[in-house]
Amino acid sequence: MKIIAYGIRDDEQPYLEQWSQQQGIAVKVVKELLDEQTVDLAKGYDGAVVYQQKPYTATVLDRLAENGVTNLSLRNVGVDNVDADAIKRNGFKVTNVPAYSPEAIAELTVTQLMRLLRRTPTFDRKQANGDLTWAPDIADELNKMTVGVVATGRIGRAAMKIYQGFGAKVIAYDVFHNPELEKQGIYVDTLDELYAQADVISLHAPATKDNNKMLNDAAFAKMKDRVWILNPARGALIDTDALIRALDSGKVAGAALDVYEDEVGIFNTDFGSFDAIPDERLKNLMKRENVLVTPHIAFYTKTAVKNMVQYALNNNKQLIETGQAENEVTF
Ligand code: NAD
Repeated sequence: MKIIAYGIRDDEQPYLEQWSQQQGIAVKVVKELLDEQTVDLAKGYDGAVVYQQKPYTATVLDRLAENGVTNLSLRNVGVDNVDADAIKRNGFKVTNVPAYSPEAIAELTVTQLMRLLRRTPTFDRKQANGDLTWAPDIADELNKMTVGVVATGRIGRAAMKIYQGFGAKVIAYDVFHNPELEKQGIYVDTLDELYAQADVISLHAPATKDNNKMLNDAAFAKMKDRVWILNPARGALIDTDALIRALDSGKVAGAALDVYEDEVGIFNTDFGSFDAIPDERLKNLMKRENVLVTPHIAFYTKTAVKNMVQYALNNNKQLIETGQAENEVTF
C-alpha cells in the first residue's frame, strides 16, 4: 500500500511518522499543497491525504484520477472547497475527519470569554506600562451569567460542560434537539428567546444558507445590553459591520472571534507588521481591547493535529483496503 500526503506541515510530520511506523505503511510526504504543479507526484500511489483551504479544482481532480488516485482523505471537516462534479465523474471516494477534538475549540472559546470578563487584555497593557492600579477595570463573573449556546453539536456540548462547570446558567438553541439535553430542559424554541435571555452568546453552528449573517443589526437589537459575543464557528454567521456598530454603541460589551468572514488568505499569514494586514475592518476589530481576534487557532492543539493526521490516514487505508470508510462523504 502506498499513500501520498500533501501539504504536510512541520507540526504534522511527527504524527504522520508515528502512524507510518505503527502501521508499517510508507507514506510519501509532500510539503506543498495539491495543485496543478504537484498533482503528478501522486502517480503510482493508492491514495492521497490532503488538507488545504484553497480549492480542489476540477483540473487537479481530473488529473489526479488520470494518475490513478481516486481515494482522497481530507484531514479536516469541510468539503466545500472540493469540486463535486469532478468527484462524481471520476468516481472518487472521499473521507473527512468530522471530529478531531471538540474540546480544543470549546477550551479556547471559554478562555477568551474569561479574558474578556476579567479584563486581562487591559491589565496586561496597564502592567506593561508600570500601571498596577485596579480602577476602572472592574470585572464580571461568569457564574452569575446566562450563556446562550447556539448549536448543541459536538463543540457546543463540550463548551456547555465548561460553562456549567463555572456555574453559569446555560440555555441553548438548535434546529435539532439532542434528546439528552432535552431532558435537562435547556432548549429555548427560538433564537429570539435566546437573544432576550443571554448575557453571553456562544456560536457553534456550521455556516449554512439559512444562517448567513444571523447576527445582524436586527439580531443585536433583540439582545440584552452589554452582551458578550463568542464566535469560534464560522465568520459568515456574523455581519461584521453590524458587530462593529453594536460595539461602537456599547450594545455588545465585547467579542471573541476565532473566525472572520474574510479570513481566507489573511489568517495564518505573516504580514510583517500590524499596519500591513490588508483588511481595515479586521484591524478595526483587532485594535479594540474588548475584542479578541485569534486567527482560526481554536483547533490548533497537539491532540487535534494528531487526530487530523492519523484519522485521515486510517480513513485512506480503509478506502484502499475495502473500498469504503466510515467517514466517507457523499457528494
Ligand atoms: P456538529 O456537526 O457536531 O454540530 C453542529 C450542530 O449545529 C448540530 O447540532 C446541528 O443541528 C446544528 N445546526 C445546524 N444548523 C443550525 C442552525 N442554523 N442553527 C442552529 N443550529 C444549527 O459540529 P461541531 O463539530 O460541533 O462543529 C460546529 C462548527 O464549529 C463547525 O461547523 C465549524 O463551523 C466550527 N469549527 C470551528 C473550528 C475552529 O478551529 N475555530 C474547528 C472545527 C469546527
